[in-house]
Amino acid sequence: MVDDEIAEAPGGRNGIVRLAKITGVAVGISLGFWHTTVIARGFHHHYEDARKRVIDVGVESGVAAWLHEVVAAVESLAMEVERHADIVTVGMAVPAKVNPRNHRLVHRPPWANGEDDLALRVRESLRTAIMKTQGPQAWCPRVVMDSDTNLGALAERTYRHQQQETLVYVMSSTHVDAGVIIGDLLIRGRRGAVANIGHHAIRADGLLCWCGRKGCLERYIGAEAVLEDVRRARGVTRRETLRSLVDVVGGANRNDPVCIGALRHAATLLGEGLAVVRDILDPNVIILAGDLAEGRELVLKHCREALERSAAPAEEGEGHELDVVWSTLPDAPAQGALLLGIRGPALDAEFSPSE
Ligand SMILES: [Zn+2]
Repeated sequence: MVDDEIAEAPGGRNGIVRLAKITGVAVGISLGFWHTTVIARGFHHHYEDARKRVIDVGVESGVAAWLHEVVAAVESLAMEVERHADIVTVGMAVPAKVNPRNHRLVHRPPWANGEDDLALRVRESLRTAIMKTQGPQAWCPRVVMDSDTNLGALAERTYRHQQQETLVYVMSSTHVDAGVIIGDLLIRGRRGAVANIGHHAIRADGLLCWCGRKGCLERYIGAEAVLEDVRRARGVTRRETLRSLVDVVGGANRNDPVCIGALRHAATLLGEGLAVVRDILDPNVIILAGDLAEGRELVLKHCREALERSAAPAEEGEGHELDVVWSTLPDAPAQGALLLGIRGPALDAEFSPSE
């Protein structure tokens, strides 16, 4: 019986060991600012066979709003995957750094509205919903949470870049952040704030950021900053004119010079920010994701050029150039979240890319 189950000790070494099921349904949630992606599959199904639902609520809608919608989506997707099967694990990717030791948000971003234990909120809401339909003896899933960048990195490493030793996954959208995997280990740092590039100061005494610092990269290339640049260049102030980075990318694709200039500027600053990561970690590959990465060739070109400008002259015959690519794995943070749910945060050291 034990062969088919995972031993789990919630109270640490001295805690009571209970056996978690590994049959049933595994769920991955990626909470965005305006949209949320939920995927679900059986434990032994292929990752590409996961069922998916995208719902039009995100962290900007407030915890109560997204919690209700997300729990409903999880329940209905699980039914689609396997009727009457238990939801066993739920992994959640959030657009913020997460302390791996207590599963709480590291910096309290404005959208969290003071709440930092979102995994617990999801777990309690799911438990209530499941008990309502299945009774008090129903199985209660394990819910774990990490940053969307860590989980994007985990999924890219598992499904796309198994041979790369050091991988950096960069999200550049409403928030700007990076996740790092070296060898088989997801690197989190002392309190979960590793590779916090969005809040690295690129301008001394620059614009004030929500995190309390000045001159943060996110303050210049986050979606709101890029949209502000375009509106200012066009002399418009109405928010309705441009809603998201996707509109700016669309404008650039239609050869709109203002949109091209804004993307080029953001990509160059991103490259300058990534130069710090490059110099410290010497990664094999940097993977760009998020709405800014939708600018693909244009963004990649200027990001790479900025990185090259700050690089040491290549040694003759070295031949190992840093790869900067965009993510080609659909829903990478949600896929990584589903994996984290199955493996559990404590199992990272056992992570093998061959799995
Ligand atoms: Zn900041």
